[in-house]
Amino acid sequence: MILLQGKGVSRGVTSGPLYFFQRNTGEIVRNTVEDLENEKARFERAQAQSVKQLKALAEKCRAESGDESAVLFEAHAMFVEDEDYVGSILTTLEEERCNVEYAAWQAGEQFAAMFAAMDDEYMQARAADIKDVTRRILNNLMGIVEGGIDSEEPVILAADDLAPSETLQLDKSKILGFITQGGSGNSHTAILARTMGIPAICGLGDALKQDYEGRTAYIDGETGKICLEPDELTLQSFRDKLAKQEQMRELMQTMKGQEDVTLDGRHIKLYCNIGSPEDVGAVLANDGQGIGLFRSEFLYLAASDYPTEEEQFQAYKTVAAAMNGKRVIIRTLDIGADKQVDYFNLTKEENPAMGLRAIRICLNRPEVFRTQLRALYRASAYGKVAIMFPMITSVWEVKECKRACNSVMAELTKEGIPFNPETEIGIMIETPASIFMAHDLAKLVDFFSVGTNDLTQYTLACDRQCNDLGKFFDPHHPAILRALKMAADAAHAEGIWIGICGELGADLSLLPTFLAIGIDELSVSPASVLPLRAAIRKSIAQNCTLEMLE
Ligand code: PEP
Ligand code: MG
Repeated sequence: MILLQGKGVSRGVTSGPLYFFQRNTGEIVRNTVEDLENEKARFERAQAQSVKQLKALAEKCRAESGDESAVLFEAHAMFVEDEDYVGSILTTLEEERCNVEYAAWQAGEQFAAMFAAMDDEYMQARAADIKDVTRRILNNLMGIVEGGIDSEEPVILAADDLAPSETLQLDKSKILGFITQGGSGNSHTAILARTMGIPAICGLGDALKQDYEGRTAYIDGETGKICLEPDELTLQSFRDKLAKQEQMRELMQTMKGQEDVTLDGRHIKLYCNIGSPEDVGAVLANDGQGIGLFRSEFLYLAASDYPTEEEQFQAYKTVAAAMNGKRVIIRTLDIGADKQVDYFNLTKEENPAMGLRAIRICLNRPEVFRTQLRALYRASAYGKVAIMFPMITSVWEVKECKRACNSVMAELTKEGIPFNPETEIGIMIETPASIFMAHDLAKLVDFFSVGTNDLTQYTLACDRQCNDLGKFFDPHHPAILRALKMAADAAHAEGIWIGICGELGADLSLLPTFLAIGIDELSVSPASVLPLRAAIRKSIAQNCTLEMLE
């Protein structure tokens, strides 16, 4: 029996074969080859496979999000067969008698450099497309199923840690759970696992060995334990836990359709956090009453260039329409810090969590901001969309955001494009400055939503990605709970509502404290909705106290 101990960051037990995430590190080695015909045949196979994949992607896009992204993949498919590009690969192959991976990589670099040097901005941006196409061909040559899972049966996905852009590419229907060497409770793998309602364990370090690939693992996302080749006793206790989990799941189904109200009549809005339109199914299946945080970064992280207004509009509209009149709070772009996007060309920072991120980038790049706001306002005609700005610290930032909104609304009016002029505007309360400024900020917006992940990081000076901080990273710290109360008091004094969309919102042990503070909304992963509803319905708000704040 092999036992590994990590940190459980998403509850639940499951078992399945371990599969290691495959990543193209971008390192291409140059080898001399004898058999050139074999290299050419390998290239032709990789080329055909790439065209087939790209056509399938184009079809999927056309069905899901309209023509614009489909056309992009069709253009990629054409480029794979472009005479000059292919000619350059074959010439290098013959002249240098090298492996085809090296020849393809070199052609990709040359063509990308050529496009990047053009005067026309549109053509310059095509350099990223060429790199993307070349990476696909290289993956196919090397048998790397990047982001994909080359297994018929569902697996437990193992990795060192997953970058936000990597989590987006995963075929989620094939994942039973996650285990990672690094990561933390706030890492994107953990957030994704909670959204999907599947177990995740992080911080396993070197104990998680590639040799375990393919072996059946039994994992418990509550205790952080992983077991390979369990003895009879361990297997039995695993099966008991699995049976209990199933019973609980069935019991929770009875919560569907029930109101989110305490025994003494206090109503709470119980919303969901999502990271892409794909997650809406889980929101509906778990009877979420709205979407309290739609992280819009997925559009930017999954792309190799700035997503267009139309692409964004389609994604927001899909979610707004699917929620059928229920509130959908879409957060504007929050990249920077741990969410890096190459084409933004952000300067490397010593301390990116405190650098140019989120609203700071949007205010510095008005065109990027305007494109997203136009897409958001256009989507507001198709459902109850609300717009939320992240990482606010100052009154002037909110005023500038509102000016940008007003200018977009004026443009749309002029163009005769429908939108909802009453679209609500809210801000995330996730910096200590926003707590101290809460009264002034509340006068400017329709709601607050507390991002406890960042609020904890900035208030306690504890990096949310660091797994070694242990007891120092304490979201139950009275400083955090007092900050929540200060923000809630300010919100209510100014007549607006306040919610929590950070991970703390799903912490059942804090529910009485949230009720005592007067939190109006909790936005949690879809899998947390029904257990939280059950707890709300058993609570008596007026008996809840503020003792945790002491
Ligand atoms: C937060 O900071 O709590 C939050 C919800 O935002 P994110 O985790 O995306 O930074
Ligand atoms: Mg945040």
